[in-house]
Amino acid sequence: MNPNSGTRVHSRLSRRDFLTLSSRAGLLLATGVLFSCQRAGPSNSLPSLPYEEDALEPVISSATVRVHYGKHHKGYVDRLNNLVAKTRFAGQPLEKIITATADRSEKRSIFNNAAQAWNHNFYWQSLKSQGGGEPPKALKQRIEASFGSFRIFKKELLNAAITQFGSGWIWLVLDGGKLKVVKTSNADLPLTHGMKPLLAIDVWEHAYYLDYQNRRADYVNAVVDKLVNWEFAQQHLS
Ligand code: MN
Repeated sequence: MNPNSGTRVHSRLSRRDFLTLSSRAGLLLATGVLFSCQRAGPSNSLPSLPYEEDALEPVISSATVRVHYGKHHKGYVDRLNNLVAKTRFAGQPLEKIITATADRSEKRSIFNNAAQAWNHNFYWQSLKSQGGGEPPKALKQRIEASFGSFRIFKKELLNAAITQFGSGWIWLVLDGGKLKVVKTSNADLPLTHGMKPLLAIDVWEHAYYLDYQNRRADYVNAVVDKLVNWEFAQQHLS
C-alpha cells in the first residue's frame, strides 16, 4: 500500500457515511463522550475513563483496569506526544495522525502509538458496568441479517479471539453495509481498512492476564456476556 492509502480509505466513505459520522461526532462532542477527537492544546491527552476503575468487576478487576489504563494506555499517549513534539502532527486528532502514517515504515512508531491510543479510547467505551446480554432491537436485527443469528455471531467473535495469533484486537465492524467480525494484529485497526468499528475487544495479554492468565476465550466470553456496551455499538449504525 502507498502513503496515500489514507486518502483511499476516505474516498471509500460515502457522503452518507460522512454525514452520519459528522452528525454523530457533533452529538457526541456535545455530550462530552467523544474523546478520541479531542484536540486540547499541542498534545493529545489521556481521556478520563467513562466509569470508575472498579466498574467492570468482577469480569475485569480494578487491578487490571488500573494498570491497563494508567500504565499501558497512558504510555501510548505519552510516547505519541514525545514522538510528535515539534512535528506537524503535534496536537493533531488521532484519526489524522493514524491515516497520515499508516503503511509508512519510517512513521511506524508514531502510527503504533496513535493507533493504540485510539483503540484504547474505543475499547473503554465498548464496555460498561452490567453490560452484555441481548443487543437492542435494531442492532440485533442487523446482527441476525449479517450472521444468521446472535449465537453464530458470538461464535465468530470467540473464534476470532482464539485464533488471533499474538497481540491484537477483535472488532465488530460495518463494512459496506454488512456487519463483520474482524481481527487485527498489534496496533492495526479498521479505520485503515475502510471499515467502521462498532465494538473493540482488546486481546493483548495485558488486557486479561492478571484475571484470566492464558484463558483468553474465557475473558472474551465474559466480556460479551456481561460488559459489552451494545448501546455504544448501536450508535455507530447508520
Ligand atoms: Mn490494551
